[in-house]
Amino acid sequence: MAEATGTSILELKAVTKKFGPVEVIRGIDLDVRQGEFIVFVGPSGCGKSTLLRIIAGLEDASAGEVWIAGQEVSSTPPANRGIAMVFQTYALYPHLSVRDNMRLGLKQAGTPAAEIDRRVEVASTMLSLDPYLKRFPAELSGGQRQRVAIGRAVVREPTLFLFDEPLSNLDAGLRVNTRLEIAQLHRRLNATMIYVTHDQVEAMTLADRIVVLSAGRIEQVGAPMELYNNPANEFVAGFIGSPK
Ligand code: ADP
Ligand code: MG
Repeated sequence: MAEATGTSILELKAVTKKFGPVEVIRGIDLDVRQGEFIVFVGPSGCGKSTLLRIIAGLEDASAGEVWIAGQEVSSTPPANRGIAMVFQTYALYPHLSVRDNMRLGLKQAGTPAAEIDRRVEVASTMLSLDPYLKRFPAELSGGQRQRVAIGRAVVREPTLFLFDEPLSNLDAGLRVNTRLEIAQLHRRLNATMIYVTHDQVEAMTLADRIVVLSAGRIEQVGAPMELYNNPANEFVAGFIGSPK
């Protein structure tokens, strides 16, 4: 695991989200430090994706504040938040080659061509994508596509990576491999990552700290073994799989 330092990368302060009258995020406070691997777990519909989308700026919070690297970001557009997000569905551009999928975001950000090439080379080596750079998404397996999506995040050199159930569309074997690759990436880049899953094994193996969510609230935050040995309530115990 990467070494977490004192620098605050993300602060959520009383973040709330309503869709119409329905409050789906209910006063979330959280502080994430440089180098941490944070996993959000909780059942389907508890608000994991909504919370990630609020951090990324794809949804506005109804109340509360989001701070990224010491800045309150309510008026910062998603592209300027220093965040890269990886989705369950990969979200690759079908008409672009692997190389161009990885280049596009950097081009749009005005990164010089030589710097784009350097970053794509580093990321594709790191993710074993070199043989596929000229191929198109339709010519790749699901695992390869997800590696491209991860590569596209890596080249942006984000302050914070967000992963929304990145392994859900992969079969069991690939899920393990891709999980190990993400863990390795975290170490090598000393990156800060927030990773959403409803899978306890993923949470236990990847996290420095697990955030257990239920119905838009945090039930407990702690290191995997802390939650396992000392769950705050029945819900956490049931989720992490240790009898209370
Ligand atoms: P999770 O990712 O944990 O499965 P979500 O964040 O997707 O949960 O959803 C949390 C709750 O918010 C769910 O009840 C969902 O139906 C609701 N929700 C999510 N997005 C919207 C939306 N755009 N409009 C209305 N309700 C939404
Ligand atoms: Mg979700």
